[in-house]
Amino acid sequence: MHISDETAEQPGWQDFANCLGVDPDLFFPERGASTREAKEVCRGCVVREDCLEYALDNGEKFGIWGGMSERERRRLRRQRALARRAAAEAGAAAGGA
Ligand code: SF4
Repeated sequence: MHISDETAEQPGWQDFANCLGVDPDLFFPERGASTREAKEVCRGCVVREDCLEYALDNGEKFGIWGGMSERERRRLRRQRALARRAAAEAGAAAGGA
């Protein structure tokens, strides 16, 4: 488990993490090392979405979060930014007609 649960009074999504008790090193593999095992743990995780959004919101640069590597998260962030821009432009075009 590599997620710190700072708001301990209320149960958070971290409490349902599939990686509780799993070696955190698995989620921070050496450069070029396999991410397969970590992703396997994430695959069966019920809070995968929360974990991924947390990492995206907090700009987590390292490690596997929500079943995604740093590179995969960067790609997702880029895709979302493009989608937002396209939606904004479509909205402006529709509104400005
Ligand atoms: S998605 Fe993966 S890293 Fe995130 S809480 Fe679940 S098992 Fe842990």
